[in-house]
Amino acid sequence: MTLDHRIANVKQRIVDCCDQVGRNPHSVSLLAVSKTRDAQTIQHAYDAGLRQFGENYLQEALAKQEDLAELNIEWHFIGPIQSNKTRDIGANFDWVHTVDRLKLVQRLAVAATGVLNVCIQVNISEEASKSGCLPSEIDAIATAISLEPKLKLRGLMAIPAATENVEQQRQAFAKLQALFIELKTTHPHIDTLSMGMSGDLEAAIAEGATIVRVGTDIFGPRQYRN
Ligand SMILES: *Cc1c(COP(=O)(O)O)cnc(C)c1O
Repeated sequence: MTLDHRIANVKQRIVDCCDQVGRNPHSVSLLAVSKTRDAQTIQHAYDAGLRQFGENYLQEALAKQEDLAELNIEWHFIGPIQSNKTRDIGANFDWVHTVDRLKLVQRLAVAATGVLNVCIQVNISEEASKSGCLPSEIDAIATAISLEPKLKLRGLMAIPAATENVEQQRQAFAKLQALFIELKTTHPHIDTLSMGMSGDLEAAIAEGATIVRVGTDIFGPRQYRN
């Protein structure tokens, strides 16, 4: 299947799923996860109409951003953040989905050149090995973000434990949605639930996802790393 076909397929899945659960398809945006893909591949996806791209590895992302500087791409950082990378992340991305500790907030704010859109990553499966803050830590991080003029708190993000069981997928996403609704009582302007990937985007949309992050089903299987 060609890239154009795969993109059309993923878009159709989003539309079909929105129809089924009574949501407006325009309320879900498609973030193309382009980690491990070269600049030319991103260019093709751009030519097919995609504008939002997500990257996990800073050095790889910076090289591609330089190659593609002429394009009108909105870049999202979706990988784990090492504190010493906050400067380059803050300066080169439009969105960061993976803020999971207080220490990162001020560092990103100092680095940001324009408005930096921020989601707090939550560890909803509460596995010790995964990144993401605990639900009990969301409030403090959200307050810190809202005090930084250059940071714009947009919402929450999660990567639940992988499972093919749709009920379990939905339970995890429902948990994040509940935390989102709770956070909205103190931060009424938040509008983003970043959840759902190739294997579980339907379950995520059913539970309120506003950004789905899709790599494999757009670009095909990855050749290396995750
Ligand atoms: C790799 C990645 C994705 C995309 O995963 P696919 O299964 O390839 O769609 C989404 N979100 C994050 C944070 C990722 O690291």
